Amino acid sequence: MDYSLKPEIQALMDQITGMESVQKALAFLKEDHENSIAEQLELVQIPAPTFHEEKRAEYMAAKFRELGLTDVHIDRTGNAVGTRKGVGNGPKIVIDGHMDTVYPLDTPLNPVRDEEFIHCPGIVDDTRACAAELTLIRALNEAGIETEGDLVFTATVQEEGKGGFGGMKGFFEDNKDIDGAVCMDGCGIQGIIYQSTGFKTIEVEFHGIGGHAYGAFGDVANPLHAAGRAVAKIADLKVPTNPKTTYCVSNFHAGNDAGIHAIVPHASIKINYRSNGQEELEALDKEIMRCIEEACKEETERWGKDTITYTVKTFCDVRAGSLGEHDPLVEATWASIRYLGTEPELMKGGPTNASIPIGLGIPAVCLGNDDRVEIYCHNAAMERFPVKDTYEMPQLAMLVALAASGIAGKTKSILK
Ligand SMILES: [Zn+2]
Repeated sequence: MDYSLKPEIQALMDQITGMESVQKALAFLKEDHENSIAEQLELVQIPAPTFHEEKRAEYMAAKFRELGLTDVHIDRTGNAVGTRKGVGNGPKIVIDGHMDTVYPLDTPLNPVRDEEFIHCPGIVDDTRACAAELTLIRALNEAGIETEGDLVFTATVQEEGKGGFGGMKGFFEDNKDIDGAVCMDGCGIQGIIYQSTGFKTIEVEFHGIGGHAYGAFGDVANPLHAAGRAVAKIADLKVPTNPKTTYCVSNFHAGNDAGIHAIVPHASIKINYRSNGQEELEALDKEIMRCIEEACKEETERWGKDTITYTVKTFCDVRAGSLGEHDPLVEATWASIRYLGTEPELMKGGPTNASIPIGLGIPAVCLGNDDRVEIYCHNAAMERFPVKDTYEMPQLAMLVALAASGIAGKTKSILK
């Protein structure tokens, strides 16, 4: 890809990577890889489906304390948080990985290691990032690197599925003084995620009176028919292709087999819709609500005797946003990936934990995405962690965090 760095960013990254202490930390991360994997194996055997991350949070908080972080605590949302204090008044940078996995509590977690891989549900997504945080802190300690700003390490809850990035959301609601974030999700180094695909997942429930399919016919409106009308209207919505905007009615529930001759009192649909543009997302939200309103009204008017009402429950609500392609944080990430010997790739969109700061206008990237090795995330039977060279992700996160935070007395933060 044609991408050139501003000379001052390249010069700064050359300065950072040229420092003896940074070289020491990079070398340490390579040497510490087996220790990091040992922690990863401990972590992966602590079940942590979304909303059940307590035990992992305790593990991470204990490790944060051991490694000398200050103000270590589990916050009101359930995230494990600890700070590596900076010496000056540099910006406050979050380094994050999420603790939750997509597998139910009773999933067997028996890691198997062969020549190339460790196989276990959750071994990468996102257990690896939690382990990467710990080795990264050790590297900074071993190399005696002091930063200008504080580095705030977070192991967050509720990233996956219905969690809707709840851990990150809660953290940013409680911490209004964060200046930047480096999130890790995955185990490679190639991809730079610097955009937030905004999205909403809602459930709409249609309510009526219900009755016998024959006996009550004509006396009541039918919530299931209202839901059907709504789906038909939503199915016809036109959305822009740029920024990419999508919608999907993903779930439709009404009735049961015992009541196959009944007009149901309730019907529900779930809808997921996304956009890379916040304005487009909000416009689509209005359109979807209009479809639902109209569907209820039409079904009500069809019979004129019963009013179909609806309620909306929101599961996920993430704002869209983007850093510039040449935002200093994106350029510093690019330079760092190149330094580590890989050709970087700018990824389009993507909801990740970085979406929360990006949606708030705070510079953030998500690292770890890499298509070169298939890791089968979210596939219990196949998820696997490639052992070789995967110390590079904490190396990358460290370089980016140092560029963002500034190294005490030596370099200034790239953040404006
Ligand atoms: Zn993940």
